Amino acid sequence: MPQWTMSGRTDTGRVRENNEDTFALVPEIGLSVLADGMGGHAAGEVASRLAVDTLTRELPTHLRTLPALQALLQAITEANNAVFTAAARDPAHAGMGTTLVVALFEAATVHIAHIGDSRAYRLRSGQLDRLTQDHTLAQEWVTRGSLSPEAARVSPYRNVLTRAVGTEAEVQPILQEAAAAPEDIYLLCSDGLTDMLTDATIERLLIEQMDLARAAEHLIEAANAAGGVDNVTVVLARMD
Ligand code: CA
Repeated sequence: MPQWTMSGRTDTGRVRENNEDTFALVPEIGLSVLADGMGGHAAGEVASRLAVDTLTRELPTHLRTLPALQALLQAITEANNAVFTAAARDPAHAGMGTTLVVALFEAATVHIAHIGDSRAYRLRSGQLDRLTQDHTLAQEWVTRGSLSPEAARVSPYRNVLTRAVGTEAEVQPILQEAAAAPEDIYLLCSDGLTDMLTDATIERLLIEQMDLARAAEHLIEAANAAGGVDNVTVVLARMD
């Protein structure tokens, strides 16, 4: 039976005063989740916390009766309802929302769900592959062929989300599953990491450091050294 080792770390960065990112690890059910909130007056913190708390609370129950991807979809729908309802109830929280990226490890299968521009990557045999496509205007244009990936990296539209959790009554997560291999490392991260570091730099830093807690620390240090203009969150999981 494969074992999963997990480690996560979050940092406010060098510029922001609040940390609107939230993550949670629930090794008992193989769950790692990360959310990057948005909305003024600390509403982003509320949104990301509420989404992560709702998902981690509801998912274990659904996993007892549903296949993993359906259970994930159900728990994400509930997280969306929780944020959407809270935003409607309190004018100070109006319009708040959050990204969400989830990796659920079940034996040798990884189930991934995402909404927004928080990403999942896999390091396998020394090569880093991005598993998610950002839900941003810039990414939409790249997909349509009207913007190059290089231009997208610095486009002001790279952080303009086309989908989020809690901003609409319905949520549209992308769900996928893949076979995991021994020594695979899965990375979940907020855009505070990927805006500061290229995929090549992330790959190098992950290869250099086998200890997951220290690797997470090194990634955050590197993002801060590159400017740290946003909150940075990193979650790592390895199949042992
Ligand atoms: Ca962010």
